[in-house]
Amino acid sequence: MNIGIVGLGLIGGSIALDLRSRGFNVLGVSSRQQTCDRAQETGVVNQASTHLSVMATADLVFICTPLGAIEPIVQKLIPHLSGDTIVTDVGSVKTPIVQAVSDLWPNFVGGHPMAGTAQSGIEAAVRDLFVGRPYVLTPTAQTPEAAVDRVEEIARLLGALVYRCGPQEHDRAVAWISHLPIVASATLLAACAAEGDRDLVDLAQHLASSGFRDTSRVGGGNPELGVMVAKYNREELLRSLSIYRDSLDEFISDIEAENWQALEQKLKLTQQARENYNL
Ligand code: NAP
Repeated sequence: MNIGIVGLGLIGGSIALDLRSRGFNVLGVSSRQQTCDRAQETGVVNQASTHLSVMATADLVFICTPLGAIEPIVQKLIPHLSGDTIVTDVGSVKTPIVQAVSDLWPNFVGGHPMAGTAQSGIEAAVRDLFVGRPYVLTPTAQTPEAAVDRVEEIARLLGALVYRCGPQEHDRAVAWISHLPIVASATLLAACAAEGDRDLVDLAQHLASSGFRDTSRVGGGNPELGVMVAKYNREELLRSLSIYRDSLDEFISDIEAENWQALEQKLKLTQQARENYNL
């Protein structure tokens, strides 16, 4: 089976590495020649090119580019594909992508592997990135069942835990556990930077330890990805941010009123709530 990967970065390169090591013939396309050269030299793919024509023999193509490039790439890819090729993507937002791409190519399955690191590009590709992590597939009523089953089979080979849900449900859920945390963490860093006393900021920077490392990690990640998820999942992100702001106000009120009992009750609930997440 020939696997095509368009976009040889962190996610595309990591999928390519794993599928190659499981014996698939992996064909890669990326925008820069130097990325293609590196992917081939380091054995991430069997063959790489800047031309989509190499996808002609692919049975299943993963689109692993930034969100804004997915639809235009599928448009350019279509003339090179045979009719039964399955196309899937790994974009972090699903509703706009699934709507646009399913109209262009009915054999399309929206997907989102829930794994990543703070790095990007082909150098960031690693083996086993998806082991034990959720991989969401977002078929619609029109998506061919056989295509969904095939993508699920490959996602399982990556060691991922596969979930299926609608594109809108996906976007609302990931607003809570992925997109809101990016903004909450970024605003934490922004608020610290707004402290006027520079000596104090310097001291805080030296004292920062594991708690700050955990809470600032996603806010200090790839800015391009943060902008993309805000742009493509704007409504759901704003909805979660509004509820988050109300929650923050409630905590502020308890602290202002020195209502330690109410604060403790809230923190007991958050301690319990955290146990329900797949962490
Ligand atoms: P990335 O490391 O920046 O990789 C994307 C790669 O796509 C770039 O290295 C670039 O390669 C290539 N590219 C860009 N435009 C292209 C085009 N028009 N044609 C062909 N190749 C192109 O980004 P990533 O983190 O892997 O993210 C890729 C996708 O995965 C995004 O849609 C994102 O939403 C999704 N995702 C990300 C994460 C995460 O945590 N990072 C997690 C799950 C899903 P060149 O070097 O050739 O320019």
